[in-house]
Amino acid sequence: MITSQAEDVIPDSWYNIVPDLPEQLAPPRDNTEDFSSIELLNRIIPKEVLRQEFTFKKFQKIPEEVAEAYRQIGRPTPLVRARNLEKFLGYKGKIFFKYEGATVTGSHKINTAIPQAYYAAQEGVNGIVTETGAGQWGTATALASSLYGMPSKVFMVGISYRQKPLRKKIMGIYGAQVFASPSSETKFGREMLGKDPDHPGSLGIAISEAVEYALENDYRYLLGSVMNSVLTHQSIIGLETKKQLEVLGEYPDALIGCVGGGSNFGGFTYPFIPDSREIDMIASTASEVPKFGKGEFKYDLLDTAGILPSMKMYSLGADFVPPPIYAGGLRYHAAAPSLSLLMQKGKIKHDEADEPAVKDALRVFSKTQGIVAAPESGHAIASAIKYAKESSNSGKTIVLNVSGHGLLDLSIFKDD
Ligand SMILES: *Cc1c(COP(=O)(O)O)cnc(C)c1O
Repeated sequence: MITSQAEDVIPDSWYNIVPDLPEQLAPPRDNTEDFSSIELLNRIIPKEVLRQEFTFKKFQKIPEEVAEAYRQIGRPTPLVRARNLEKFLGYKGKIFFKYEGATVTGSHKINTAIPQAYYAAQEGVNGIVTETGAGQWGTATALASSLYGMPSKVFMVGISYRQKPLRKKIMGIYGAQVFASPSSETKFGREMLGKDPDHPGSLGIAISEAVEYALENDYRYLLGSVMNSVLTHQSIIGLETKKQLEVLGEYPDALIGCVGGGSNFGGFTYPFIPDSREIDMIASTASEVPKFGKGEFKYDLLDTAGILPSMKMYSLGADFVPPPIYAGGLRYHAAAPSLSLLMQKGKIKHDEADEPAVKDALRVFSKTQGIVAAPESGHAIASAIKYAKESSNSGKTIVLNVSGHGLLDLSIFKDD
């Protein structure tokens, strides 16, 4: 276990991978001739976030107020040597994990919610609005908005709203007003409810409602993953990890993380890329949502409704209907453009784990390290265990990112 002074480990700047990519990113595209989704972004995204989205600058200074908020919510997060897991596996090398579940909201999502809310507050907007599926993103948004004294509204996919009352409760305690989507708060929601009063909702519908709400009420809309600016903010994970390893005189042979939209994985691994050293970087996805295995690298919609622009990325198609796996955060149909490009160029590898394997991995990690990790993080753990088993005598140093805790997702164990 490593802890040095918070001030020593929290970096001054975030790292932006864009100028270091092997080729330039394909630009975002409008979806129709008569509707500018890029202009729409200009109206609903905080200006500084939008500037960071398209910048070629390698480093973005972390504002002092944001660094202080990071300390308040539990940064730096711990980097732990998983000795019990090593022993359990009979592993000859070292295994470390970075634990993003140690933030107060229980996942890495707060790392980007804080700066986005901060930049919005500086513009003096009326409030913050977003959508959430399983609830982690809504939870982070709710807290970040309250930290800067702004009201927040969260459109939560209806079926999750009804299945996960505790998530909704926490968002409420943090100060958010949460609506089951489709809701009667927006024109689009009322239209959907008119067609089916018991509509289960979808992320696409929730995004549409949040965007409409932002436009109508001079609110700002926050982005949870996929975008460059989000991955830049999440680089705090990898920058801290690097320093924490340095203090121990260690350097990773393998970096392993899970991929929904790619924000915790990109944030964790990208700061190591400019070193140009030999590292196996392994992106673990759900076998049930095989975006790298079966997806295509092409322009596709970010959201089902086609409100946001299209991006060139690995995608299973915006109309892909994922099976209802517990790792809700990995059900997204695509992956961040920068991560997709690095995957296509062979700089990053991928692995897949299915739900039974993830349950086993979560159990092993709980029994050895005492942490009930999030189902999403269970994919990273499963891939790390597999990697360790395949390279047992090599003495390699494996570092994995545990993106969140699973204390509100215990229903994955309901049949046991
Ligand atoms: C949202 C979430 C993910 C997936 O999102 P990424 O953008 O790929 O990081 C993974 N783990 C947890 C705990 C999450 O909340």
